Amino acid sequence: SRELERALDLVTEIRDFPEPGVLFRDLTPLFGDADAFRHVIDALGEAVGEGVDRLAAVEARGFVLAAALGYARGLGVALVRKPGKLPNVAGRVDYELEYGTATLELPMGSVNKGERVAIVDDVLATGGTVAATAELLASAGAEVTGVTVVLELTELDGRSRLGSVPVHALRKV
Ligand code: 5GP
Repeated sequence: SRELERALDLVTEIRDFPEPGVLFRDLTPLFGDADAFRHVIDALGEAVGEGVDRLAAVEARGFVLAAALGYARGLGVALVRKPGKLPNVAGRVDYELEYGTATLELPMGSVNKGERVAIVDDVLATGGTVAATAELLASAGAEVTGVTVVLELTELDGRSRLGSVPVHALRKV
């Protein structure tokens, strides 16, 4: 819709952040605009589709999107965290970043075996974060139904990291 396009147009491009040569997409103005935020959440809800038991998101911007979407759709959220934050960890995964490695942890009791879980995030870049999240969920016995993001940076081909998991993006850049 025109409203959704207006909302996505609020995303700004920041050169050389967080390192020289990187063009960072800043969603801050979108989160700060009530109408834009609502249209984005509604569109994410449609993209997630039916037949989903739960959402999963990675801190921090993923939490904001998944919290609003979970409330709107009546779905609980599995909050995947950076290391060292959780008292009880169901699973941990190390993955490669462009420079170095990172770790994510799934809280104990945050998903049930056999549940159909949709992953939500702000930006799909290299796909490393989302692929690691999918691995965590699969290890816990959940079925990943899809990945839904606001922006997909197509040049980085994050989709190729996700095998047969469907990817929905509100905008591809
Ligand atoms: P990945 O390369 O693993 O797909 O992206 C790593 C994480 O960094 C993702 O969770 C994503 O939210 C974030 N990220 C990567 N590039 C950008 C960007 O240009 N803008 C924003 N806002 N987040 C990004």
